[in-house]
Amino acid sequence: MTVHQCPKCVLRYVNKTELDDHCRTDHPEFRHDYPVRRPLTPAPAPSSPSAPRA
Ligand SMILES: [Zn+2]
Repeated sequence: MTVHQCPKCVLRYVNKTELDDHCRTDHPEFRHDYPVRRPLTPAPAPSSPSAPRA
């Protein structure tokens, strides 16, 4: 049986909606459901030697 383990504590839930609700309640600062756009995403180097412009 698949259970949804809370990544922030030891609680587990059968229904993901319950886990979502628990996370919203107990870990309001933690939102694992929503992909966070990281501003620190490593951008491709503008002067990459392996990408010749010819
Ligand atoms: Zn939790």
